[in-house]
Amino acid sequence: MFQKNDVVTVRIEHMGNNGEGIARADGYTLFVKDGLPGDLAEVKIVKAKKQYGYGRLMRILEPSENRVEPRCPLHQKCGGCQIQALSYKEQLRYKEEKVRGHLKHIGGFPEPPVLPVIGMEEPFRYRNKAQFPFGTDKDGRIVTGFYAGRTHSIVANTDCVLGAPENKEILEIILAFLEERKISVYDEKTGKGLLRHALIRKGFRTGELMVCLVVNGRSFPGADELADRLFAVPGMTSVTLNVNEKNTNVIMGTEILPVRGRTHIMDAIGPIRYRISPLSFYQVNPVQTEKLYQTALDYAGLTGTETVWDLYCGIGTISLFLAQKAEKVYGVEVIPDAVRDARSNAELNGIANAEFYEGRAEEVLPEMYEKKGIRADVIVVDPPRKGCDTACLETMLLMKPERIVYVSCDSATLARDLKILCAGGYKLEQVQPVDMFGQTSGVETVVLLSHKSTWKSTMLF
Ligand code: SAH
Repeated sequence: MFQKNDVVTVRIEHMGNNGEGIARADGYTLFVKDGLPGDLAEVKIVKAKKQYGYGRLMRILEPSENRVEPRCPLHQKCGGCQIQALSYKEQLRYKEEKVRGHLKHIGGFPEPPVLPVIGMEEPFRYRNKAQFPFGTDKDGRIVTGFYAGRTHSIVANTDCVLGAPENKEILEIILAFLEERKISVYDEKTGKGLLRHALIRKGFRTGELMVCLVVNGRSFPGADELADRLFAVPGMTSVTLNVNEKNTNVIMGTEILPVRGRTHIMDAIGPIRYRISPLSFYQVNPVQTEKLYQTALDYAGLTGTETVWDLYCGIGTISLFLAQKAEKVYGVEVIPDAVRDARSNAELNGIANAEFYEGRAEEVLPEMYEKKGIRADVIVVDPPRKGCDTACLETMLLMKPERIVYVSCDSATLARDLKILCAGGYKLEQVQPVDMFGQTSGVETVVLLSHKSTWKSTMLF
């Protein structure tokens, strides 16, 4: 049993699901942020429970053989990256094991068919989107950057090594403008102050840039002048305001007010062009997204005659990929702006066999199944982190598509949902993790399930 402030020497043995090091000392488990498996380190206990505790890495006595020099000097302070000090090859191995572990322990699959992670060629500067919070530092100066891990204190940084190089110039223009015009920034404690966040997005294929300022109000003083300066950045296409007057930690409100240029940018993945609005979801790593969607398309096994449902479809990215090879694709998405983007994306690409419904997947699908008796040969789902609602999973089981392709950004909820689908008649065929989030503990996964009626018949041959 250890006490707070004790300093102990331990060997880090494992890495937890959030990228934290895990060590054991006399049967006691210690979670050590920034500790890597193989490190021998002095750790100071910062929180001690009966059987486990949390420690801070004080000094590395013997570094792990997989330790590398991180590119960002702020990587330990900033909550954005968790495993930048781990070699990229080991990051991929860690992610494969994480997916396998979840499928085993949460999903109950003794030997899940997990393939090696599809890695990135260049695991830096890959993000096309970032949301920068604005606040003040301890000297009262206005800063922007990223939240420190598990808190809302801002680590000042305008040049994140995961983001587009243009972010720095854009943020510095905004910071200088705030200073010059004495424009206030939002204070979460008091609910006062104007500028909350800046959302910056870049179409990697088109070079188009979008800046959306999230404000606690309905206007921004000198917005035209600021737009002039922002439009001096090559590629700038869209400057908008987003109204968020609520005292909440949800970043964006629901209303977009145009300032200059279009209210969307364009980008492309594979052969399909996409229109992206500030409120729409769009994968943050476009290079890996192409590999992800190609895997989903391969798993869907389309021949041109199939009816496909794409649930949680966002701006129709996967739907339009699938529509090239299916007879008909139906997409379901809850965010109205995203549905609007999806419809115009279909039109823009001359795709006539994709149709989109606005609403919750767990409501739209059961309703359409009960009232209209809709059917599906293939269902693709790509839910947010919390996974699929049980009402959605139950309807999928009733619809009995031949194949289900599950795209997931959280392998724990994925495993939970796969357990339900496999108990309901599906077989886990293949699991392909794709690294969309290098330097972080996150991993994206595409899974193929087939209905037992199909796999029994194929087993006869
Ligand atoms: N398949 C898309 C989007 C995936 S992100 C792509 O690859 O780009 C998940 C999407 O699910 C988001 O667009 C989010 O708005 C949407 N969403 C969240 N909850 C939902 C629900 N209950 N029903 C339908 N869509 C939902």
